[in-house]
Amino acid sequence: MKPPIAIVGGGLAGALLAILLCRRGFSIDVFEKRSDPRLGGWAGGRSINLALAERGLHALALAGVLDRVLAEAVPMRGRMIHARDGKNHFQAYGPHPNDFIRSVHRARLNATLLGAAEASGARLHFGMSLIDGDLRAGRLLFRDELGGLHERHAQVIIGADGIASAVRRLIAREKPLGERLDPLDHGYKEIHLAPRAGEFALEPEALHIWPRLGYMLIALPNADRSFTCTLFLPRVGPAPSFAWLGSALRDEVEQWTRQDFPDLCALVPDLSEQIISHPLGELGTLWLEHWHFEGRAVLIGDAAHAIVPFHGQGMNAAFEDCAWIAEAIDRTGGEPDWGELFAAFARERKPQADAIAAMALENYEEMRAKVLDPRFQRQRELERELERRHPGRFRSRYAMVMFTRLPYAEARAQGMRQQQIFDRFLADATVPDEILIRRLEEAFGLTPG
Ligand SMILES: Cc1cc2nc3c(=O)[nH]c(=O)nc-3n(C[C@H](O)[C@H](O)[C@H](O)COP(=O)(O)OP(=O)(O)OC[C@H]3O[C@@H](n4cnc5c(N)ncnc54)[C@H](O)[C@@H]3O)c2cc1C
Repeated sequence: MKPPIAIVGGGLAGALLAILLCRRGFSIDVFEKRSDPRLGGWAGGRSINLALAERGLHALALAGVLDRVLAEAVPMRGRMIHARDGKNHFQAYGPHPNDFIRSVHRARLNATLLGAAEASGARLHFGMSLIDGDLRAGRLLFRDELGGLHERHAQVIIGADGIASAVRRLIAREKPLGERLDPLDHGYKEIHLAPRAGEFALEPEALHIWPRLGYMLIALPNADRSFTCTLFLPRVGPAPSFAWLGSALRDEVEQWTRQDFPDLCALVPDLSEQIISHPLGELGTLWLEHWHFEGRAVLIGDAAHAIVPFHGQGMNAAFEDCAWIAEAIDRTGGEPDWGELFAAFARERKPQADAIAAMALENYEEMRAKVLDPRFQRQRELERELERRHPGRFRSRYAMVMFTRLPYAEARAQGMRQQQIFDRFLADATVPDEILIRRLEEAFGLTPG
């Protein structure tokens, strides 16, 4: 008889891991502090839609739910850059047919995963918030929505309870975790862009960006033909910042949105109203030195490594954690020593989490500023040309992160080496493309023979 496992948090990672573990014969209880999203939807919370990429696809396929998720996903084949003068410019993610990411609805994805977890045999307990416990005794204390207390026991406890993890607090009681939370000095607000006459109001198969150097607005398509836009701004400081928005006159906000996002203003008549009234979300990076306590408890997903959203990889990395654990269990013949497995998980995954955390921070600058830089645009075109000419032999850093499962740390290291070469060759802007390509092919070892 395999030991009962408690998964705290029935969000994206908790629900997916529940499926994977149930299918490996484990007895799983999932404790989620919110009510069942399949009954009424989860109001508020994190982003409405998410970019799903290769690492996430692999984990969903492993859990047997990929087809269901893809049925509702909208492909995004590149970035549509919206300039202040209303002109658009499309930058494809890559030259190959599979070089695209997908926009998925967070709440529907969560509901699909919870349904599949339940169908696989997981017992789901909603409205149960972990408030205390004793990991050595395998004891967990939950408070329900009416204030009632419930004690539960489990031999193995998995903390999938997000950035403010209660399981993490329990582990920290047993050993110092070396925890550091770096809040980002920018926050975000979401804005709804409704369909126009039943159709997408913007090009549907793109991730739209309004890059404005110090800040930006993005939009991802939804299956119902609406878009969810996200405005990222400094939290404090002069206009435009969220602090400024808090005290600005409505006319001032109107004037700013008309000047910075003229095309969007035409599509979202209440843009200023939404920007002023919608809740402000915070962002940050969580760094931990340790992710587990012996074979008793482990952290996965945001509970272990929350990152800023600018590479669209937080969920993908969380799903990759789940796949890693399932595949590691399979390698033990289904009978893992949890202490060894959790130690190996932390040892192998932490450098990857650190690498994607750093790349996610770097990508904010790329999205809000670099995409406007002619030299960056030329580099992206050259990267695409090299990818087209040398399929399987050359991949840009973006492609390695989004379209492959190459370990993040390896993608980052290769990306740095590539960047040094591009910096060297792009310094002279007068060299024609054909000559530049040949030089780059040579430098990247892509020449035949
Ligand atoms: C604006 C924004 C945009 C993003 N865009 C993307 C994207 O495009 N692509 C991408 O890959 N990632 C994206 N992310 C990151 C992604 O949202 C997270 O990485 C992902 O949600 C992590 O999943 P998780 O299950 O670890 O945590 P969560 O999704 O936070 O789930 C944690 C669950 O635990 C529950 N819980 C919390 N405390 C307790 C408790 N005490 N007891 C019981 N249950 C508890 C919560 O209710 C929740 O259901 C984005 C994030 C933000 C903020």
